[in-house]
Amino acid sequence: MNPLFAGLPTTIFTRMSALAVAHKAVNLGQGFPDFGWPDDVVARAAEALTTGSNQYAPMRGLPELRRAVADHYRRHQALEVDPEEVTITSGATEALAAAIAALVTPGDEVLLFQPLYDAYLPLVLRAGGVPRYVRLTPPDWRITAEALAEAFTDRTRLVLFNNPHNPSARVFGEAELGLLAEACVRHDTVALSDEVWEHVIFDGRRHVPLAALPGMKELTVKIGSAGKIFSLTGWKIGWVVAPPPIAGPIANAHQFLTFSTAPNLQAAAAYGLGKDEVYFRTMRADFAAARDALVAGLAQAGFATLPAEGTYFVCVDLAASGIRSDDATFCERAVREAGVAAIPLSAFYAENPATNVVRLCFAKTPETLAAAVERLAAARKLFR
Ligand code: PMP
Ligand code: GLN
Repeated sequence: MNPLFAGLPTTIFTRMSALAVAHKAVNLGQGFPDFGWPDDVVARAAEALTTGSNQYAPMRGLPELRRAVADHYRRHQALEVDPEEVTITSGATEALAAAIAALVTPGDEVLLFQPLYDAYLPLVLRAGGVPRYVRLTPPDWRITAEALAEAFTDRTRLVLFNNPHNPSARVFGEAELGLLAEACVRHDTVALSDEVWEHVIFDGRRHVPLAALPGMKELTVKIGSAGKIFSLTGWKIGWVVAPPPIAGPIANAHQFLTFSTAPNLQAAAAYGLGKDEVYFRTMRADFAAARDALVAGLAQAGFATLPAEGTYFVCVDLAASGIRSDDATFCERAVREAGVAAIPLSAFYAENPATNVVRLCFAKTPETLAAAVERLAAARKLFR
């Protein structure tokens, strides 16, 4: 048995969702919307199920979806993408696994930003990569030139980057992206840029893909996911866009992970990516309204929140909220004793964790959010 996987605990998302069910808690832990999805996208999938093929899709993905991804990025992010550069995967998770398997050989240094999405580190370690960390610190989670200079070495082969960032809800600005791009170009290092939250950004911000920075088109592998764009997290339709010399090896890894992905859901994702700008604008406005409702409710209940610039998460600063507890204890007691599930940020660190921040998901109906605020107010009282 491989001790790396044998020794891993169940993910914090699975654990918290199970506790939420067991304690009949309101679940603001694991990130998934509870208000449905675009009906036309689901209708397109139903149509494709009954009238289309139910056999293996082409290994690199349906041509119509590969084209739709390329068109989508041209239209929304002014990126020149050839459909040949696109591989469709079973969620962003498989895209990460295929890219890391293809790009990392034993002994390669891989730069990771902490807090980090939970799948990154086990995949890097399984590939024999040697992790090096850039630690981002609340409340501003800023990337600095000094931190990058310290982490990059001559052996850095890959940078695993995530923007907008889960779990901090930060959207890194052009200055920070510029620092990262400069470092990648200087060291000729490929960046694996997890941009699954690219459409979920607020307050007039625009998503800047890392590939758009000078010198980065040839050095960026970009990952996206239909799960986030259409509130269809269960579908697990993702994709990876890579420059031609890198796209082939990644597709080779994908062919022995899953080979191909459900054709009908791919057809529906292709349809969805072509939706009018109004859909994307409305989605952002709806999420922003949910964020504002939760933040206002939390403020009234005495909680201090950090800025939520992107993703459908908001972080609560426990210390600034006057709660004398570490994040893990707070979440454990909140779900068991107050009936509300959250995610402790310490779960996203490999070392030296921040322990005063918890993450809440606001992709929920107004009723769910109101119930959650009530229970969080009760959870607060547990620590007086
Ligand atoms: N990367 C990040 C940063 C995520 O937040 C998520 C899902 N929340 C994923 C990857 C996984 O995406 P998928 O569900 O498409 O596998
Ligand atoms: N990505 C989701 C989150 O951050 C969870 C995905 C999962 O449960 N693996 O909450």
